[in-house]
Amino acid sequence: MINIYQLLKEKKPLLIAGPCSAEGDEELVNIAIQLKMAGAHVLRAGAWKPRSRPENFGGFGAKALQWITMAGQKAEMPVMTEVACAEHTEEALKAGIDILWIGARTTVNPFLIQQIADSLRGVNIPVFVKNPVNPDVSLWQGAIERFANAGIKNLAAIHRGFSSYESNAYRNKPYWELAIELRNRMPDLPMICDPSHICGNTDIKKISQTALDLQYDGLMIEVHHNPAKALSDAQQQLTVHQYMQLLEELIVRQATPQDPVELSKLQDFRDRIDELDDEIINVLSKRMEIARFIGTYKSENNIAILQPERFREILSTRSAKGLENQLTRDFILNLFALIHKESILQQESRMNKQEVKTSKSK
Ligand code: PEP
Ligand code: MN
Repeated sequence: MINIYQLLKEKKPLLIAGPCSAEGDEELVNIAIQLKMAGAHVLRAGAWKPRSRPENFGGFGAKALQWITMAGQKAEMPVMTEVACAEHTEEALKAGIDILWIGARTTVNPFLIQQIADSLRGVNIPVFVKNPVNPDVSLWQGAIERFANAGIKNLAAIHRGFSSYESNAYRNKPYWELAIELRNRMPDLPMICDPSHICGNTDIKKISQTALDLQYDGLMIEVHHNPAKALSDAQQQLTVHQYMQLLEELIVRQATPQDPVELSKLQDFRDRIDELDDEIINVLSKRMEIARFIGTYKSENNIAILQPERFREILSTRSAKGLENQLTRDFILNLFALIHKESILQQESRMNKQEVKTSKSK
């Protein structure tokens, strides 16, 4: 039986890779062999996929377990799959899967977790527990404790980000501080990062590097033989080539000089700034769209573009509002002078029926 603590000691970071879901025996064997050659240590593949809509692909089920174990044997790699209820667990154990993982949608449900944990009593198999979809460290910790109480010794956590109502740069927001909090509560628990489900796209280098800088113990990354044709999570799976390139670019530091807790807070602040900057650009673009409508209106009604009294009113109301919000008068005046200038330009473009020239349209 695999001892993940031993595995982690030998292979830090532990590299888990493979497709979102197992889609066929040959494809899986091929990708497993390629991943092994690329340096991955554990093959991941889902047999049952928790999809939001019933018409979405839900995985090939128990028969995919055979493909997964066979691919592991051919590539000489331990294999892991997701189980979401006691029946899945039974099937996975029967098929000889080496490591189980618990998905984010299962971790939220203590009843299911308890049933899975009970079905594993007396079984010596490693269980990796993904964070729940909602940002709740105690729920994550509770799930891990239920497995520990059932006698599971080889436990690890997988940080895959948290869903949020606001649209943002990530499919699932990282909230690094929560993962670091779990590590503080359970210092011996290995922590793996799943940048694929955090990002929701293939641009996972930054998140992967942050995880390594925060001294995570491993990375679980989705890699598919033909991502564009993948039956689940097509947007976020890497090709083997992209995976190899990523591994080459990532820097594994011996020890981070900075305290991971402080570093995680800084990273969360930066994520927030990125999101706010995104919002600023969206709002500015909406404002300029209105300016263009006004340009058309003024043109149709023969009204001059520049209305000095309107500009004075904007400056005085916006600087007063700025002062109420701890923004200096000078900053607001400069900012709105710039915005006004751009608005006039956009209005003029409408009056002259031209597109505004951006460097892209040049
Ligand atoms: C997966 O790993 O493919 C998966 C479904 O993950 P999560 O539970 O993190 O959404
Ligand atoms: Mn997936």
